[in-house]
Amino acid sequence: MTASDATTGRMIAPYGDQLVDLMVPAAEIDDVHDYAARLPSIQLSERSVCDLELLATGAFSPLDHFMGEADHRRVLDEMRLASGHLFPIPVTLPVAPDAGITVGQDIALRNANNDLLAIMTVDEAYPWDPDEVAEKVFGTRDPRHPLVAEMQHWGRINLAGRPRVLQLPRHYDFLDLRRTPAETRRHLEETGHRNVVAFQTRNPLHRVHEELTKRASAEVDGVLLLHPVVGMTKPGDVDHYTRVRTYKALAENYYDPDRIVLSLLPLAMRMAGPREALWHAVIRRNYGANHLIVGRDHASPGVDSQGKPYYGPYDAQELVERFTGELGVRVVPFSELLYLPDDDRYEEVSRIPDGTRTAAISGTQVREQYLGAGRPLPAWFTRPEVAEILGEVYPPKHRQGICIWFTGLSGAGKSTTSDVLTLLLIEHGRQVTVLDGDVVRTHLSQGLGFSKADRDTNILRIGYVASEIARHGGVVLCAAVSPYRATRDEVRALVGPERFLEIFVDTPLGVCEERDVKGMYAKARRGEITGFTGIDDPYEAPLEPEITLDTVTHTPEQNARRILDFLAERGLVRGASPASRPAATPVGAPA
Ligand code: ADP
Ligand code: ADP
Repeated sequence: MTASDATTGRMIAPYGDQLVDLMVPAAEIDDVHDYAARLPSIQLSERSVCDLELLATGAFSPLDHFMGEADHRRVLDEMRLASGHLFPIPVTLPVAPDAGITVGQDIALRNANNDLLAIMTVDEAYPWDPDEVAEKVFGTRDPRHPLVAEMQHWGRINLAGRPRVLQLPRHYDFLDLRRTPAETRRHLEETGHRNVVAFQTRNPLHRVHEELTKRASAEVDGVLLLHPVVGMTKPGDVDHYTRVRTYKALAENYYDPDRIVLSLLPLAMRMAGPREALWHAVIRRNYGANHLIVGRDHASPGVDSQGKPYYGPYDAQELVERFTGELGVRVVPFSELLYLPDDDRYEEVSRIPDGTRTAAISGTQVREQYLGAGRPLPAWFTRPEVAEILGEVYPPKHRQGICIWFTGLSGAGKSTTSDVLTLLLIEHGRQVTVLDGDVVRTHLSQGLGFSKADRDTNILRIGYVASEIARHGGVVLCAAVSPYRATRDEVRALVGPERFLEIFVDTPLGVCEERDVKGMYAKARRGEITGFTGIDDPYEAPLEPEITLDTVTHTPEQNARRILDFLAERGLVRGASPASRPAATPVGAPA
């Protein structure tokens, strides 16, 4: 792969004219490998591994390094690199201040399995401020924003430098569809079209998307680069394995082979809305696209903790359009299409005469009324191949995983309520695992104390296990004090917001103290233990819990039944409707 491959004179040139290439030449690999074995290492997060891959292959051209302070500052303030090139998103390598790395040192970059990926001379090490990045890049400090929550746990020092890459992150899935920018350009060129229109997606594609992408490529007389993100997307998205199976089925069966190139993009999305859309345009230019389809709410993180969208629906489109002249990537606006059942075709909303019958199914309806209810998706909405794949992977709601997260002071009643709820859920055919804070601290989190760092570690461990259980269709009840809002929000993001129920056990401190089941409050008051939540350590009550329980006026059974009803109303358990239930069922252990 050389830079000249990329500039053919036909297709749009990479941004900055040459594709960055950070791969160590084959002849030097053995020597660099030996050298790397003697260097101090840092382990990259999943996100940094994605960033490294895109840096190495030139997808972020002209950026060829983890950003230094001058780049970082200018990206935050002006969406540009220090060189003046447009670049709206920081690409940094955060490490903990105690990582023991000094400027000028060579270090080895490894993945989570300690496989060696690259070496890098550390050019700079500088502090950064998550609140400033949140404000400037994401336009919000709301901890419900997945990146705002995630950034709280990034190291506070950024290392800058140009990696020399020995090994791209290894992938074993869909190898035929994984292409570097240079390889993608070659494929696109073979189709013989100068105009390339890229479609960015993190969702399964239905017929409306098929229509829209076909119209877009016809409109510019070009080829479609179907370019789904397979790195990191929004927590809770359909996993990329499932999505790619649907894209393949579509590309193989429903598109003219000369009009489509399906390629996977190992990007770690930031869900930064408008800035992210502009970033997508820079990236797609490097892959050879001179058009990008941008619709409503591009790269949207959903809604904030007040239920409001973070960005205006067309902010992303407008921002990319503003820089089209400079970047050379034009926006193909994603016009809204509706299905006309009487004509069996799709049409743009603006062209549909008043009174015409139309049909559409929203993403929520797909999940709730079709997949969640075990009903097949209609053929006018999605191709049968796609419907079959989605049906396999998304079982009906009453078999989907859920994480029920109890939070509240010690002695509030989290364990007591979850014990009752466990029995009710088993009675209704659910498999239940309980992760009780006190119990988890005796094995999974043995040795952790009650400092903020240790509490966060404990909660994130519980959150991780919970996310795995929920992912595999189990119900997991977590009962830990979990005093910090941002950490709970991070767990929500990890588990997937649609599977996460936050239950605030809102028992007043005075009541907990009076109960003092374990005598802890008395000890804390006497000063025998310090840092006790509610006494001399903070408790941040949830702002928007799904359910708030009152344990003073309601018994554990009443509260557990209230949660059961909530789940039943949402189809998450079957046969638990309040009307069909005897008035007072005694709660006892099963035989
Ligand atoms: P946590 O798990 O929140 O630390 P526990 O469930 O271990 O709290 O302790 C709560 C204590 O309060 C138990 O001794 C329980 O019997 C008592 N209690 C009294 N009323 C209630 C109620 N309505 N709901 C839950 N627990 C209650
Ligand atoms: P966290 O969310 O803080 O990790 P856990 O639910 O894992 O909380 O553990 C809290 C339990 O540990 C409490 O029910 C209490 O019995 C006990 N505990 C001991 N020291 C403390 C403390 N300093 N603050 C809160 N709980 C404490």
